[in-house]
Amino acid sequence: MPLNRLLIAVIVGPERLLWRVGGQAPQVWWRDDDARWPTLAFERLLDLSTRRAAPLTVAAVPDGDLAALAEACRATPGVELAIHGFRHQNRAAPGAPSGEVNDQDRLEDVVSELGAAVSAFARAGTPATLFVPPWNSVHPTLSSALVVHGLALSGYGQARNASAAPPRLDAHLDVMRWKPRPRFRGAIRFLLRLRRLLAQRRRARAWDEPIGLLTHHLDHDPAAWAFLEDFLTVFRPVASGDLR
Ligand SMILES: [Zn+2]
Repeated sequence: MPLNRLLIAVIVGPERLLWRVGGQAPQVWWRDDDARWPTLAFERLLDLSTRRAAPLTVAAVPDGDLAALAEACRATPGVELAIHGFRHQNRAAPGAPSGEVNDQDRLEDVVSELGAAVSAFARAGTPATLFVPPWNSVHPTLSSALVVHGLALSGYGQARNASAAPPRLDAHLDVMRWKPRPRFRGAIRFLLRLRRLLAQRRRARAWDEPIGLLTHHLDHDPAAWAFLEDFLTVFRPVASGDLR
């Protein structure tokens, strides 16, 4: 058995068994961030999604070639595009966490920026219903603008809330580590976090509470790609549209 499959079996196997005993299966969905135009890494991502029959939500920055991305996604069953910010520009004050919307921004300006992004996706023939803020930075002004445009929100680490304004469906499980440089998180770290997320849901009997897998195709090293191959064989994602 390949090492990754063995680690999956050893680290999360017992927890998966407890789910099966309860007659339940975890709801995993898959979000990938930072697409701007088709690249070799993007082709590899879509190929992985196809081979594993794994539905995928690709968060794309509106200033890229949305038409080309939309065309590639249309040719791949189960892949949808979400809006990833306006220009993926860090406009936070020095020393503050990165984010594109800040305290100085007026709601009407953010509503207008968001309107331009929505229109760009519609023009590319891929109307978007989900917004993924860069750096998962959810500023209250951005939330209000999402409500104005009727968009759902995907950040990081929070529970699903379909009745919130805006409705929220987060990612929880990042395949990467970012500091001091992007690299695979490591199978053991990743699987220990997954085990914790699964155990929390089981103990709370929150069987339907989704777990969002987060990837960044442009930053994957060979170890990250190899791990995803095995992970997606064992955990079959569902489409984000089925969860919101
Ligand atoms: Zn991003």
